[in-house]
Amino acid sequence: MRYDVVIIGGGAIGASVAYYLRTHRTPCTVAVIERDPAYTLASTPRASGGVRRLFSLPENIALSHYSIGFFEQFETAMAVDGESARIGFKKGGYLFIVPPGAIATLEENFATQRQHGVNVVWLDPPALESRFPSMHVADLGAGVHSPDDGWLDPHSALQGFRRKARALGAEFIADEAVGIDAERGVARAVRLKSGRTIAAGAIVNAAGAWAKEICAMVGMRVPIEPMRRYEHYFECEDAMEPLPYVKDPNRLAFRPEGKGYSGGLPDTDEPRGFNFEVDHGYFERVVWPALAHRFPAFERTKVRSTMPGLYDQNELDGNVIIGPWSGQLENFFLVAGFSGHGLMHAPGCGRAIAELILDGGYRTIDLTRFGWQRVEDGKPYAERGIK
Ligand SMILES: Cc1cc2nc3c(=O)[nH]c(=O)nc-3n(C[C@H](O)[C@H](O)[C@H](O)COP(=O)(O)OP(=O)(O)OC[C@H]3O[C@@H](n4cnc5c(N)ncnc54)[C@H](O)[C@@H]3O)c2cc1C
Repeated sequence: MRYDVVIIGGGAIGASVAYYLRTHRTPCTVAVIERDPAYTLASTPRASGGVRRLFSLPENIALSHYSIGFFEQFETAMAVDGESARIGFKKGGYLFIVPPGAIATLEENFATQRQHGVNVVWLDPPALESRFPSMHVADLGAGVHSPDDGWLDPHSALQGFRRKARALGAEFIADEAVGIDAERGVARAVRLKSGRTIAAGAIVNAAGAWAKEICAMVGMRVPIEPMRRYEHYFECEDAMEPLPYVKDPNRLAFRPEGKGYSGGLPDTDEPRGFNFEVDHGYFERVVWPALAHRFPAFERTKVRSTMPGLYDQNELDGNVIIGPWSGQLENFFLVAGFSGHGLMHAPGCGRAIAELILDGGYRTIDLTRFGWQRVEDGKPYAERGIK
């Protein structure tokens, strides 16, 4: 059995790559190897669903611009047999707030965002207070609000991509990739746990937090580690004004969800590994004080659920590594290391990989600076003041 492209990992990224390969003007045959079609541990369904343009690097802003535009059309564009693909996209806005010491960086980023066409509004503490009266602003220097950003349901987005890619002819194979055959600088085939071998013209590693293991199959060493992060659902007894997706200086990040809120506070010192244990004291110890500090109404909050998930954390610079393993295995493509941005950039990165494979280069967004070369050179290309 042979496919032009074999994708390892059928989460939001792998399914998006499959969709774009099939909708390209010169489509190719595509197989997606996904060992867990129920996505029990995959990161995508465990994500918070935030989609924002508030970045400092032009590539990330461009990826968000493209991808959020795509998500706005998702329901109809991804319909199959007349059945729409609802993802519950809510344009609730994003709000980044910073302490006085970080105003200069926020200003720089604000200028970059405006230059790249992002609808952003600068809010000084009095403006923050009048806009969000429930918020404690005394220790804040400023905030930036992006009203066109928002959030969506990650599981529905994944299923939408998957269903559409299949309807367009991509084949999803429920199996585990256990090895990759390569010779003379060319990747040839993926070996599966079931004993089958699938020959491939190109191989795409879209295995998220497991991407390092797939890279190891060809001898490629990447700085991508699984990092546990919790998403909590909590409620507040006192009503507040409608809130956007709030990102606080200490990495607290949350948004409205149903009758309550969904969010968390990632711990960057979290030991790396495939850890899905829940520390039930984490919310009370770490998240609650941060919430109650910023919004005193959260003094009276109740956490209803805590879901662990994994970031595919790029330890070099917190950004995706996308493109071929240049100079080594030109038909082996990596698209992982999103470090918390993978859902929001799934459309843009899916399209980018399809362009690399079928057009021989980027056509929509030039992502060269996110390529393997920077890892090889040990030169981080990181966000400024945004995690
Ligand atoms: C708590 C939390 C909150 C987040 N919030 C956001 C957010 O608000 N916005 C945002 O954009 N991102 C967010 N993220 C990040 C986002 O979830 C990821 O970046 C994104 O889902 C990555 O998608 P993926 O397809 O690469 O990975 P996954 O969804 O993990 O898919 C990878 C797939 O590869 C499969 N696989 C692995 N190894 C093999 C193998 N050997 N053979 C076959 N299959 C294999 C796995 O089974 C899995 O299904 C969050 C993440 C977490 C954990």
